[in-house]
Amino acid sequence: MTSPDTTASHGSDRLSGVRELPLSTPIWQVSDYAYDTAEHYEDVINERRPGQVYGRYGNPTLEALAEVLALLEMGEKSWVFTSGMGAIHACLMYFAGADDKVVASRTLYGGTYGLLTEGAPRAGIEVVFADSTDAPTFDRALADGASLAILESVSNPTFEVADVEGIAECCQRRNIPLIVDNTVASPVFMNPLQLGADVVVHSTSKYIGGHHDMMGGAVVGASEAVDGIRHLAIRYGTTASAFESWLALRGIATLGIRMKRHAENASALAQLLAGSDRVENVLYPGLPSHPQHERAVKIMSGFTGMVAADLGTKERAWRFMDSLRVARVGSSFGGVRSEVTHPASTSHRQFSKEDLLLAGISEGLVRISAGIEDRHDLIEDFSAALVAAS
Ligand SMILES: *Cc1c(COP(=O)(O)O)cnc(C)c1O
Repeated sequence: MTSPDTTASHGSDRLSGVRELPLSTPIWQVSDYAYDTAEHYEDVINERRPGQVYGRYGNPTLEALAEVLALLEMGEKSWVFTSGMGAIHACLMYFAGADDKVVASRTLYGGTYGLLTEGAPRAGIEVVFADSTDAPTFDRALADGASLAILESVSNPTFEVADVEGIAECCQRRNIPLIVDNTVASPVFMNPLQLGADVVVHSTSKYIGGHHDMMGGAVVGASEAVDGIRHLAIRYGTTASAFESWLALRGIATLGIRMKRHAENASALAQLLAGSDRVENVLYPGLPSHPQHERAVKIMSGFTGMVAADLGTKERAWRFMDSLRVARVGSSFGGVRSEVTHPASTSHRQFSKEDLLLAGISEGLVRISAGIEDRHDLIEDFSAALVAAS
């Protein structure tokens, strides 16, 4: 007879009595596994036999998420991380090391800028910034001994559309890997691997999760690169958790219809803002006035749910933001609720004064993430805030 303590601590070994295919991927809330023999475990951990190892190495829920992301981005393989920054960090360290030079787009998410200006130099990596909307300009920066290129397909927070195709050609010619952060565009509206990128990264905390409730990141690309990047995630301890991955999977189920609604709402807001004499400039790839509108039409199947509006001064920008009632002043983007951010003072505060200027992030710039609310409620809200701001 086993004692009750042993019975209780072992629980049940029964996996499940379910023969039917579950229509939702279960959360594998498990960190370690039992093997038939010592040799069995040795084979699995050395990848001579397929199988699970330990939470930091992966988990069936994470693998399900990675599989969907690889399909959506049309890549061979994918791996998922604790956050978008975890994914970008692993990519950076996989492709670059001491004495290497990285060329990055001048307009980037503040966290990525921080990693490149604070983290990269600590690893002996030099970083230069260049204009990723113009391939010849970017290529001149690559010419000077670069070993890696990083850009955002649609930049945060000015929504420039990078010349992904043109820069991918330059990188291929020079044998330099190209990492493209596709967070803002989402895999629904652009697939950078199809345009020549080597690796796509995502912050799944944004559109992919989409409900303001999870953190995660992903890389998608050729098997060899993704395997190497995954190996670093295991070393750095940045593999995604099962629960967060499950939330991302749950979010992905509605990604297509959400992106459609986000884009419809953003387009309506962009038109409203562009028609107002209280706004100095509106940045939305769907507006014909956008500097890369033609490129957006060519390489994107939608214009994202993000809009930037320049209200002229920080005071007016803040007053505008504080006057909104349906949309809220928020810290992120890509979720079902509309939020607005003042990048210069918050998400992009890491930027030096000169780099803010180069990136086109003015003091009056407001970043708008259109949610999936009713369009008329948003129009009413933003119209009233425009009046209140002036
Ligand atoms: C948010 C964001 C990141 C970082 O992702 P986290 O999940 O917050 O770590 C990277 N790139 C872009 C474009 C982002 O918007």
